[in-house]
Amino acid sequence: MKQTAEIQSQRIHQDIETIAGFSETDPAIGYGRPTFSPSWVRARDYVIEEAERTGCTTRIDAHGNVHIRQRFCAWDTPVWLCGSHLDSVPSGGKFDGVTGVVCALELLRCGLDLELIIFAEEEGTTFGTAMLGSQSWVGSLSIDDLTRSRNSEGISYLEKGAAFGVRAESMATDRVRPECYRGFLEVHPEQGLSLWKQDRAVAVVTRVNGRRHYEVCLSGQANHAGSTRMEDRRDALAGAAEAICEIEKLGALCAERKAYSVMTVGRIDVHPNAVNVIPGKTVFTIDFRAQSTEVLADGEQSLRAILNRIAARRNLELHIENTEHLPPADLSREVVQALHRAAALCDIDLPEIPSGALHDAAILAPYLPTAMLFVASKDGISHHPAEFSRVEDITDAVRILTRIIQNSRP
Ligand SMILES: [Zn+2]
Repeated sequence: MKQTAEIQSQRIHQDIETIAGFSETDPAIGYGRPTFSPSWVRARDYVIEEAERTGCTTRIDAHGNVHIRQRFCAWDTPVWLCGSHLDSVPSGGKFDGVTGVVCALELLRCGLDLELIIFAEEEGTTFGTAMLGSQSWVGSLSIDDLTRSRNSEGISYLEKGAAFGVRAESMATDRVRPECYRGFLEVHPEQGLSLWKQDRAVAVVTRVNGRRHYEVCLSGQANHAGSTRMEDRRDALAGAAEAICEIEKLGALCAERKAYSVMTVGRIDVHPNAVNVIPGKTVFTIDFRAQSTEVLADGEQSLRAILNRIAARRNLELHIENTEHLPPADLSREVVQALHRAAALCDIDLPEIPSGALHDAAILAPYLPTAMLFVASKDGISHHPAEFSRVEDITDAVRILTRIIQNSRP
């Protein structure tokens, strides 16, 4: 179907504001839409209703992802897949995920043939597994993985999702069918500074960093803080503190060798966490991201060496678990080139950048020709209520997508 209506920035702005109104938390402390929460359902239903009002039809796949097409576009007609997610981190912003969904919604309103997708549980902050909906759809998560993915009340993704379209028994047969798509396009805020600093509106993403997650447990001996001499201690927290500072240095070293490498210790639990007890056990996480598998492998080796050295010197027991292992994803050169051509037709300058953050696009990339457009994030801030992207920049992304949808053949 050819475009029948003009892109309306005001409508895109209104969509973002309306969806921001669906939040479990007061906007003063941030926007919160955990997967399957009442706010998430209202946001999802808003998008469905808006699309259906303009003549679209909806299906929810067995994994909980929402798919929307023009009513007269058969589900097996190859079209572009386009969308993102509506779930948010706790105290998040208005734009993360929502931007990509409302871009696709606007394209549907303009009468273009495409498939809007709302991926379920992208952030992983509700059920503990990031990009769960897309990973499950492509088949990289098992029923066991989904049973283990539980929310803070201990309810699994499968149990909680049953009321929202998730059907474990149909998952194996309801997978992504590449023959039904020309490719996947995701618009997302950059969540970094480079575009805002250069006063650019949009960029095309060529590569998404890989990510490895670890959970490290250091065990020593909990003991009396008054009567245990310093030389007799096996302090698990002091060991963790030393390790965390070393990890920060290693992260900087990896970044020096290869741009876009980062290492973060973001969570730590101390046992028994009492003022007068020497900590007997600490558990902390490491998030390590890099552009290449080699940097990830080398970095992991160095990480393990550092932790082993500290544990041995301090007489602590060490246990390292690799809790996530996502390889870097190259996005499709063909789609990137098509986006360049589309941008040129719109007179929009389109720099190329890599993505430090992971996105559903990285999961889809091995299955569908995939690329992403980033829109500038004010001051590079994201996962925070101050998150902001200009509606003009988002509109530029929609204009580029309009061209690629109209111009390239399957
Ligand atoms: Zn996102």
